[in-house]
Amino acid sequence: MPPERIHITTAITYSNGPPHVGHAYEYLAADSYARFMRRKLGKKNVTFVTGTDEHGQKNRDAAVKAGLAPKAFADQISAMFKQAHAGLNISYDYFVRTTDPVHEAFVQKMLARSHTSGNIRFREYEGLYCVGCERFYTEKELLPGNLCPEHNQKAELLKESNYFLNLEKYRDRIRDQIKRNRDFIRPERYRNEALKMLDEPLADLCISRPKARLDWGIELPFDANYVTYVWYDAFWAYLSELPDTSDDALKAILPVTEHFIGKDILKTHAVYWPAMLLAVELPLYRSLNVHGFLNFGGARFSKSSGNVADPLAYEANPGPDVLRYFLLRDVVYGLDGDFTEERLIERYNADLANDLGNLTSRVLSMAARYFDGEVTAHPASNREDAAICEAFAGVAPRSDAMLETLAFNRALEVIWQALDAANKYIVATSPFTLAKDPAKLPRVAEILANLLEGLRVVADTLAPFMPVTSRKILDLLAIGESIAHAPFGQGLKPGHHVKPATPLFPRIDAKRS
Ligand SMILES: [Zn+2]
Repeated sequence: MPPERIHITTAITYSNGPPHVGHAYEYLAADSYARFMRRKLGKKNVTFVTGTDEHGQKNRDAAVKAGLAPKAFADQISAMFKQAHAGLNISYDYFVRTTDPVHEAFVQKMLARSHTSGNIRFREYEGLYCVGCERFYTEKELLPGNLCPEHNQKAELLKESNYFLNLEKYRDRIRDQIKRNRDFIRPERYRNEALKMLDEPLADLCISRPKARLDWGIELPFDANYVTYVWYDAFWAYLSELPDTSDDALKAILPVTEHFIGKDILKTHAVYWPAMLLAVELPLYRSLNVHGFLNFGGARFSKSSGNVADPLAYEANPGPDVLRYFLLRDVVYGLDGDFTEERLIERYNADLANDLGNLTSRVLSMAARYFDGEVTAHPASNREDAAICEAFAGVAPRSDAMLETLAFNRALEVIWQALDAANKYIVATSPFTLAKDPAKLPRVAEILANLLEGLRVVADTLAPFMPVTSRKILDLLAIGESIAHAPFGQGLKPGHHVKPATPLFPRIDAKRS
């Protein structure tokens, strides 16, 4: 049973560097899903949280390198992420910074609860520690030479007294939860991976740092000589700044919470986070939606060359929604994807300029030329029209079903199949030719009624993926919110006037740069 309310989160981004296209992919996927859910469940039934994870060693090191105090550095980075969200039209409701006092107080409250109930233990520990991951590793988890599998750098032997969360206590319950619920971790491959992580006893999770070594964290409520940081701190950002954080509210929101994360933080979210929730007797989240990595191919796009991967650059040129479209269409959610500017421009010219842009301007131009922009007929369903009517009528339900399962690429494919059908319909019915004979204008009016009504449905179905473009097309069709979502055939009525065509996606000459 789908829930009536949903809470969506992106990972709380580590703020040791500026946003790049890889971050953008996760934001865009979560944002499209949030927009889709708002249409389905109503605005007030969807909350969407994102933010920046600002404590910890790596962030402090990056600040020192930049010659700034940790908080001043975090302010800068966090502002850049907010700007990226605005530029990419990410429709979050709450942007949580882990340095916000409200968040810090919430984390302290949860720590105190875990401590009181005996789930946090203090002891001396010696282990292999990766600064990059900010966690201890067992030798078995490390690569030969004690290299961290994430960072390929040597984990250092570290001995100190710290606070630890007992994970083993919760292992069976977490494993049961994953086994019982198909959608608890999706896609399937990550569910299997998580189950494997829970096959063997779990070591305690270190959740503190002595202030003597690292003070850039949240002070433990039960020991002023220690701070907590990163993992224990960051997870709570999914909840800490919601308007109601009473236990009752949290018990209602967690079972409808859908996390969007990258595969590199599967373990922390599939094992640590559930254990933290269980330690304070809160329910587990509904789904963990895990995506792959975005690889940067093409000569001009190495990740190390810095700002070329600035996602905002693509909003300026080629324009709004293009990066959104490209990433969601080209990458299969859950699998790794490739990002190259060449591919992006190919897709732009083929899918956006040709298929969507040309169809829109052809249809609007005909409406302007033959009928002064007026719709003069109802959508027709002659034998000649059967296929197109079916394609348009099916586009929203079919695309929605795909989006429901995070198949963003296939949801967009469904929309493009309808565009393809529309272009073929124009060729087959040939309204340009018919219009030369005044006696045949009523038939031209029917054909255009089908096409304009179809464009409306397409524009509406596109809204979660391409909000700016969707609005542009609906504006050209002079469609307000009230009829934008109507099923095919129940939107545009005779007497409605549409506007003249304006180019949506001018072709890009691939050799321009
Ligand atoms: Zn590491």
